[in-house]
Amino acid sequence: MRAALDEVVARRVNAGAAVPAFTCYGAGTALAVVGAAESLRLPVILLVAPSSAAAGGGPRLISTLRHIADDARVPVCVQLDHAKDEALIRQGIEAGADAVLADGSHLSPEDNAAFVRRVRASADVVVEAELGSVPGAEDRAAVQETDLAGKTDPATVGAFLDASGAQLLACGVGNVHGRYRGTPRIDWPLLARIRQEAGAVPLVLHGASGIPAADLRAAAAAGVGKVNVNTELRTAMLAAAEENLGRCRAAGEDMLSLTGAVTAAAEAVVREVLTTLAGAAAVPT
Ligand SMILES: [Zn+2]
Repeated sequence: MRAALDEVVARRVNAGAAVPAFTCYGAGTALAVVGAAESLRLPVILLVAPSSAAAGGGPRLISTLRHIADDARVPVCVQLDHAKDEALIRQGIEAGADAVLADGSHLSPEDNAAFVRRVRASADVVVEAELGSVPGAEDRAAVQETDLAGKTDPATVGAFLDASGAQLLACGVGNVHGRYRGTPRIDWPLLARIRQEAGAVPLVLHGASGIPAADLRAAAAAGVGKVNVNTELRTAMLAAAEENLGRCRAAGEDMLSLTGAVTAAAEAVVREVLTTLAGAAAVPT
């Protein structure tokens, strides 16, 4: 069912929980994500990578996810992720995205805020901003040094939120996109500072793949309201495809069985993340 992303996240934050967001490169992944969320009766977010949105079938992928989200028995949002280009944002919103990460993290804080402000003024969607930058590539996993992570300067947060009007804030607290070298080290004092500076604006943690479940739970308890997951889902789906390919080929090119195995692998990851982030009160919303 349709629901405003900022309201869905705010409700879960009040329950000490966070809403996970999963990158969907196709409708099959979205069906798996929504199926898992329905089985646990919890809200979820479908993410579209900017690479997918900009590809030939991008608008159709987004409108397909819109349909899947609206048809779901739980609140499901469709968010265009890491969008740096205003034309792509317009196209994504027209296709059915109800939220966007207007990513100006590569700009100065002033230009970043102005960019986010323009996106907010141009459309009636929920707008997330990113301050500081989360290193690593979105679509391909490469090992990242967490020490090099572009952490958010808490002193800039209040002014940035005032100037930008962002409704959610992605921050760098030692998190990276892709894979972590060694154990990820979340900077908890920094997260607490940013939480304080951000007031009522929920924080977003990108690059959750590889962060231990206990740390994800702690992040939710520390006021992170949304957690983005991509690599972990790709890893599970590719492993399931590899494991089942020979069997399905031998069984008369059994495509149904192959997609079933990949879907089941995705659902298992989604259920695990949803459960981890469900907080103390895993009540249906
Ligand atoms: Zn991200």
